Amino acid sequence: MSRDVAVVVEHLGGAIADVTFEMLVRGRALATAAGGRLVAVAAGQGLAGMAKELGAADAVVLCQGPGLEHYTPEAHQQALAAIVKARAPRVTLVANTSVGMDLAAGLAAALGWPLVAYCKDARLEGGTLVATSQIYGGKLLAEAEVAGEHAVLSILAGSAPADAGRVPGSPAVEEVAAPAAPGRVRFKRLIQPEAGDVDITREGVLVSVGRGIQSQDNLPLVEALAAALGGTVSASRPIVDQGWLPKTRQVGKSGMTVKPKLYLAVGISGAPEHLEGMRGAGLIVAINSDPGAPIFDVAQYGIVGDLFDILPALTDKLKGA
Ligand SMILES: Cc1cc2nc3c(=O)[nH]c(=O)nc-3n(C[C@H](O)[C@H](O)[C@H](O)COP(=O)(O)OP(=O)(O)OC[C@H]3O[C@@H](n4cnc5c(N)ncnc54)[C@H](O)[C@@H]3O)c2cc1C
Repeated sequence: MSRDVAVVVEHLGGAIADVTFEMLVRGRALATAAGGRLVAVAAGQGLAGMAKELGAADAVVLCQGPGLEHYTPEAHQQALAAIVKARAPRVTLVANTSVGMDLAAGLAAALGWPLVAYCKDARLEGGTLVATSQIYGGKLLAEAEVAGEHAVLSILAGSAPADAGRVPGSPAVEEVAAPAAPGRVRFKRLIQPEAGDVDITREGVLVSVGRGIQSQDNLPLVEALAAALGGTVSASRPIVDQGWLPKTRQVGKSGMTVKPKLYLAVGISGAPEHLEGMRGAGLIVAINSDPGAPIFDVAQYGIVGDLFDILPALTDKLKGA
């Protein structure tokens, strides 16, 4: 058994996803505890320049070939399973994202290793792997001891600081051949979000609006506050389902995961599916008329009151009126 820890690199269109750098931070702590190396593994095409961004790892293994240009579960699972099986790391970390969820499950099944999903923490205690998973959209934490010599963990975004793992360098690179048979699932096209809209995952200030706003006609109140804060408007799902804002603005389980410096939740109750997408924000402020609204459980600052009174007053104050 190797003492190494492997991190599966998630990337799209040549860009490494933030969660990969977060996993490198977590992976380094595990590798140190295990007494092994930290190895980043990636499958794809055109990955030649990738290694210099993965300086947080001791080594990088790249698998490039036809059929791996775009992510498809079967082809990528086959390629990555071959790499991981040959190296038999103590722990393999995969992102708990749309891509990573089926990748992690497929890898664990192909290797016959246990999988713990939705992990926000993992550590080695006297050689035993202990993983903490977030369940019911973050309402409960479950701690699991993982028996055996190997395990796959899928790691939630936001569980470590990405910047600490974003280290340039020149780790040793090993190239391995892609599996001969391409997968049966063929990539056809990437459907991009509506052109021209903002990418809320990159915004520093989000003013997020929920059903408390009552009508589309009231959205200008939220837009005015967002403008005064130099931010952007995002929303809970009902606002998007009603067609008041585009899908690109939805925060939560079936929308985007956001990590702005400031997340101001206006008339949002804080359902688990919403919290899943925003609890990693730097500072959460909530405005809600119900003092028992669950959003106050995650907010650092809360205002209990009617948003129709508070929003105009706050906007005026920010504008210095
Ligand atoms: C599989 C699945 C996926 C889902 N994905 C998502 C997702 O991605 N994102 C998401 O957001 N939801 C998602 N949901 C829906 C989620 O469960 C909630 O229904 C939704 O988040 C509720 O939205 P809300 O907080 O805007 O509305 P509500 O729960 O209706 O809350 C409205 C809030 O506004 C407050 N309010 C009312 N009037 C005022 C006022 N005048 N001033 C101040 N406050 C006021 C109320 O007190 C209340 O807390 C999903 C659900 C499922 C089952």
